[in-house]
Amino acid sequence: MSLANGRPYLAIPGPSVMPDRVLAAMHRAAPNIYEGALPDMVATLWPDLKAVAGTQASVAAYIGNGHAAWEAVNANMFSRGERALVIAVGQFGLSWANSARAMGIEVEMLDFGKSTPVDMARVEAALRADREGRIKAVLMTHVDTASTIRTDIAALRAAMDASGHDALLAVDCIASLGSDEYHMDAWGVDVTVAASQKGLMTPPGMGFVWFSDKARAACKGSDLRTPYWDWTARADAVEFWQQWDGTAPTHHLFGLREALDMIKEEGLPNVWARHDTLARSVWAAFDCWSAGNPAIGLNIAHPADRARAVTAARFGAPHATRLREWCEHKAGVTLGIGLGMAPAGDPASHGFLRVGHMGHVNAHMTLGALAVMEAGMIALNIPHGAGGLAAAASVVAARA
Ligand SMILES: *Cc1c(COP(=O)(O)O)cnc(C)c1O
Repeated sequence: MSLANGRPYLAIPGPSVMPDRVLAAMHRAAPNIYEGALPDMVATLWPDLKAVAGTQASVAAYIGNGHAAWEAVNANMFSRGERALVIAVGQFGLSWANSARAMGIEVEMLDFGKSTPVDMARVEAALRADREGRIKAVLMTHVDTASTIRTDIAALRAAMDASGHDALLAVDCIASLGSDEYHMDAWGVDVTVAASQKGLMTPPGMGFVWFSDKARAACKGSDLRTPYWDWTARADAVEFWQQWDGTAPTHHLFGLREALDMIKEEGLPNVWARHDTLARSVWAAFDCWSAGNPAIGLNIAHPADRARAVTAARFGAPHATRLREWCEHKAGVTLGIGLGMAPAGDPASHGFLRVGHMGHVNAHMTLGALAVMEAGMIALNIPHGAGGLAAAASVVAARA
């Protein structure tokens, strides 16, 4: 027998759960892209997108996923042969570096592995060692969605300032925006990149780049910039079509309007607090489960270094895969696969899985997913410590 019938729950780190309000807002006839409701509505998006990122910076939007938005940043910030210092704490930092390298940017890597936070002293030292000032910008993921490390961006900026180097700071908030607390301007970030399908609760297909006046000026002559990717043409558009360099992503935009309304209604600090509580309930369950089986464990040791949007954990091969399959087929909960976590020879990271808790999620969804995981461990005879669900419920009870 399967108990999967009913509303399925996609608990992976993006695309995230689609709110019915977002889907309903998209359910409409094709709008006129020259005048009327669509351009009028889109004008209201920009101030709200800036508010979500905590910035007064300019914002450019693209039709494309997060990988496209990375290339938008690369193209606008760099000329061929200019150098980026890329800091990696997981697969997403490595992938951003690859995209930059492929475009002709010289990449200097600071790779901290897959379960260790950034050592700020090494960042400061790397910048100090660049006596000729060749590094144009530091590229960093706020939350690396594979390792689920969250980096203290204010501390990173402080380390950059302490080095005396004037490199720009660009931050990938694709996983974190709308889930983890973020303040672009207060934390001294020059460029922020995000996409629609995670904390912003809108289908995949839109990328966003916020850029400060300082970044605008410092990157004015970048020769990787082509008309399509040019952030100034989009951010400073006079005609509606110039915001997209062609046809707008019409229905996505109505969905995004609704999602931003939902974030405004809840209040951004409350959105962050909800994610913080749900994340802590997941960690509490894992702490109990791992107490009875050392093969189970959270990937990141210290809570301060953990994402509030998604949690990566070890289950040991083949248990991680068996448990994911059981949860999906028997109980209607799809957990995330491990990504880029295993050593060479195990490209699928079979020993790992990820629990998504980003965007349109509440206590019953997260507690339900944890209960299903515990049922799966019982059904599959995966050894685990007792009390995980009670611990998760206690976190919710104490903070609700
Ligand atoms: C999801 C994600 C990406 C890639 O986004 P796609 O839309 O899959 O291209 C990049 N960086 C981070 C941190 C992400 O979470």
